[in-house]
Amino acid sequence: MVAALPDPITIVRRVGDIRLHTFISAFTQGNIANATHIVESENALVLVDGQFLAPYARQFRQYADRLGKPIDRIYLSHRHPDHWFGLASAFRDVPIYALQETIDFLTADGSTSLQDHWTMGTLAPDDIIIPQHVANAGDVDIDGVRYVLHKVTNTEIDFLLTLALPDYLVYIAQDLIYSGNHLYLTKYMNNWIGVLQDILHSDYEIFLPGHGFPTDKNGVADNIQYITVAMEAVGRGFSNEEFKKFMIGQFPEKKCPSIFNIYIPRLFDNASEF
Ligand SMILES: [Zn+2]
Repeated sequence: MVAALPDPITIVRRVGDIRLHTFISAFTQGNIANATHIVESENALVLVDGQFLAPYARQFRQYADRLGKPIDRIYLSHRHPDHWFGLASAFRDVPIYALQETIDFLTADGSTSLQDHWTMGTLAPDDIIIPQHVANAGDVDIDGVRYVLHKVTNTEIDFLLTLALPDYLVYIAQDLIYSGNHLYLTKYMNNWIGVLQDILHSDYEIFLPGHGFPTDKNGVADNIQYITVAMEAVGRGFSNEEFKKFMIGQFPEKKCPSIFNIYIPRLFDNASEF
């Protein structure tokens, strides 16, 4: 018997004449609260990221289909498996956009990344899909909504696509921001803080993260505090289990501690990037 997956959580918020839908996989059973989003405008849907586990990807697709509007496209924010695996499970028929760097990585290493996750069994897709369209930084108009695409470098990942909706003060930040969960830390912590600091000085008010619930500037500031504490811990020589224990002790309210097991070998022991 395979244990049933916990139910996802969905949140809807109206902002002006659009609706933002956030679909969050579970916080429990080793899930890391993957948050994928839909911008619903008058005649179209724009999706951001494809979930990780195949059942959640299919449920996210069903949720989108129930809105009864065509999916214009899906943007993939970056190349971490918990964002793109689900694209192959449920979004093969949708135009997928990603940064050129993300497309290049998936073309070179996507199949190896999928093979590395063989223990997932049927929770992983059967095959990979490579985004067909390059998302270039700059403005895009989709169904009368202005999206500003940004290429953010050296934060939670080397290359991250974020989408701002300046007319709605909405910033789709994906893994620049973790909301309520432990962060996936990288060697870019110092630069990451600088990027978050700039965001705190921007006009944006609503932030859609890659993990956890939609948040506000307090949620962004909370990430700066978390990364600052982590940098101090590294500076004191903490690593591996000692580092994990320290961070959980400092942030006992944060959810999804299984993320430590994913990034610690990469941060401290140079394990492969995927
Ligand atoms: Zn992620």
